[in-house]
Amino acid sequence: MDDAAAATADVLAALAPSWSAAVVLVSYLAYLAAAGALLPGKLVAGAVLPDSSRLHYRCNGLLSLLLLLGLSALGVYMGWMTPTVVADRGLELLSTTFIFSVIVSFLLYYTGLRSRHQSSSLKPHATGSFIQDWWFGVQLNPHFMGVDLKFFFIRAGMMAWLFINLSLLAKSYLAGSVNRAVILYQFFCGWYIIDYFIHEEFMTSTWDIIAERLGFMLVFGDLVFIPFTFTIQGWWLLGNKVELPLLASVANCIIFLIGYLVFRGANKQKHLFKKDPKAPIWGKPPKVVGGKLLVSGYWGIARHCNYLGDLLLALSFSLPCGASSVIPYFYPTYLLILLIWRERRDEARCSEKYKDIWAEYCKLVPWRILPYVY
Ligand code: NDP
Repeated sequence: MDDAAAATADVLAALAPSWSAAVVLVSYLAYLAAAGALLPGKLVAGAVLPDSSRLHYRCNGLLSLLLLLGLSALGVYMGWMTPTVVADRGLELLSTTFIFSVIVSFLLYYTGLRSRHQSSSLKPHATGSFIQDWWFGVQLNPHFMGVDLKFFFIRAGMMAWLFINLSLLAKSYLAGSVNRAVILYQFFCGWYIIDYFIHEEFMTSTWDIIAERLGFMLVFGDLVFIPFTFTIQGWWLLGNKVELPLLASVANCIIFLIGYLVFRGANKQKHLFKKDPKAPIWGKPPKVVGGKLLVSGYWGIARHCNYLGDLLLALSFSLPCGASSVIPYFYPTYLLILLIWRERRDEARCSEKYKDIWAEYCKLVPWRILPYVY
């Protein structure tokens, strides 16, 4: 067997799902369910649904995350687990989680179709096409034992992203390969994820929560795609040493900072506007179209400035890997495609929902994502 064939055989063997990976996954999800139900957190009202009802979300993700970090540190200190436990089982966790997400999506499909509920969140929306209904989902906000599954899976995926990264950092530390590139990568991603949980309530007004049904696409996206592909740079840095020049590091930090300010600023402005349409934006009363759409701040520069910020952030997560390979650029490339597609879908939804008001907004703010380019 030549080297390539041997490497392929190793990867395939490592990809085999295992019961120990299933135990890690189920323990993790059980912890999150228990922490989500028991820990205190702000109760946030979700968007008003078509039947005028509103769901409520307990935003205790940050506390759940901090407690899990503390418990993991204790486990490592007491010798109950190794800090590299997640990274050591990376591929088997990936395949096990994939199987789990397929099973969950079938359960969602079958229970969704049988639902007799007429509320907007539980009413079945079936097109009759199995592939379409299984992929996009049947219900908007399915629940299991009182847990809002969509909110739960997003939380699980975002938190797993951080835990995989921390496990990779431990591996780099044990291998003596922690350098500037690794620190920058870890810092940028860690900041983004912790910031996400600090602002978890903003999630309640996003497209995924208010408009997307829960099917294979979201379950797989949250549980498999986010944690296992957004960490590709971390895996790549384990096997590839990058000597990042100081100037490149500074440029990388600037891209991260601008991306963060635009991303967080835009999402915050929209969230505040939805709560209080008179809240000042950049110190001035907001300019509004038809009483419904914000035209001030970032929302007056491009119709999805938040996507621009996110794309800059994604780029900053990959730049520490240098330019010798395209592999670490998977995340920004994927995000570019996803956000262009999503922007088109959101545009269609808003055009349908707001009609003339949306047309007026598009006249006032002609740029979709990047002013003067797109
Ligand atoms: P948005 O948060 O941009 O939400 C779009 C909705 O906001 C619209 O449907 C409309 O809903 C409302 N809206 C649009 N324009 C205006 C306006 N001018 N004034 C007031 N309300 C407006 O979209 P997403 O949920 O897609 O994205 C949220 C964040 O999540 C983004 O920063 C994105 O980059 C990020 N994201 C990251 C992903 C990743 O994989 N890393 C994947 C997807 C998203 P309404 O009907 O309520 O008015």
